[in-house]
Amino acid sequence: MMHWSLRRQSSWVQLAGHQGNFQLSEGGEVLKLYSEEEAKCLDSLMTDLLRPFVPQYHGLVTRGEHCYIRLEDLLSGLRRPVIMDCKMGVRTYQEEELITARTKSTLRSDMYQKMMKIDPTALSAEEHAQKGVTKCRYLQWRDTTSSTSMLGFRIEGIMMEDGSVQRDFRKILTLAQVTEALLYFTRSQLDILVSSVIGSSLLFVHDHSSKANVWMIDFGKTTPVPATSELRHNIPWAEGSREDGYLIGLTSLITSLSQWRQC
Ligand code: ATP
Ligand code: MG
Ligand code: MG
Repeated sequence: MMHWSLRRQSSWVQLAGHQGNFQLSEGGEVLKLYSEEEAKCLDSLMTDLLRPFVPQYHGLVTRGEHCYIRLEDLLSGLRRPVIMDCKMGVRTYQEEELITARTKSTLRSDMYQKMMKIDPTALSAEEHAQKGVTKCRYLQWRDTTSSTSMLGFRIEGIMMEDGSVQRDFRKILTLAQVTEALLYFTRSQLDILVSSVIGSSLLFVHDHSSKANVWMIDFGKTTPVPATSELRHNIPWAEGSREDGYLIGLTSLITSLSQWRQC
């Protein structure tokens, strides 16, 4: 457990992602490092039925050498908020990433180290001897070690009202464990609204005044499918199907939350 020190005008916290990717801006906005896919997706979401569940997108801005996406700060106006990031879907890498990774046989020691930290027993004797794994191996392992593959979502991080942050949910696998973590998040007090893509998250936010909301964020890997194919979002992924399992995750999340309601 660690304490978050970046607390300025708002109690802004970054629960997931690369720590250098965000900047705080004046006027209730956060700036996220530009990606073409995410900007395109946000652009179309601004005229979509899902718009009320997505942070307002205010276009682009350049700061220094980098371009940023201007987003509504979802924490602005909240006092000592409790926040949870749930990464949705049965996989968190794009099919293209897997295909590219397959062509590379380079052994990655950074990915070996990440696996070592979470589950050394997942590594073969050969991988231990090489002290490296291929990116392909790492991508596929990563989602099976959390609840992603089985439940269709995983908890990336939770910040409690005292500002303490927990990101140690990587090995949470079962529905019971997820429910326990959600219970911790809600402290069995508040009704959290459940409302309704790859690597996208639902950001749950509530504070003392019982203001509670669920937002869809992180569209860096969300891409349109060809008009000829239709996604169901509620069936397991098989390579080539492009399915994301978003609704499998949402269903698990709702099941988990309703178990808590019955407690
Ligand atoms: P990754 O792909 O590794 O999940 P990322 O770099 O794409 O991460 P996001 O997931 O979009 O980044 O955001 C990371 C964190 O920043 C979120 O967990 C949340 O805590 C915070 N955050 C993102 N967007 C907003 C927003 N509009 N308002 C408030 N907080 C936000
Ligand atoms: Mg994210
Ligand atoms: Mg992302």
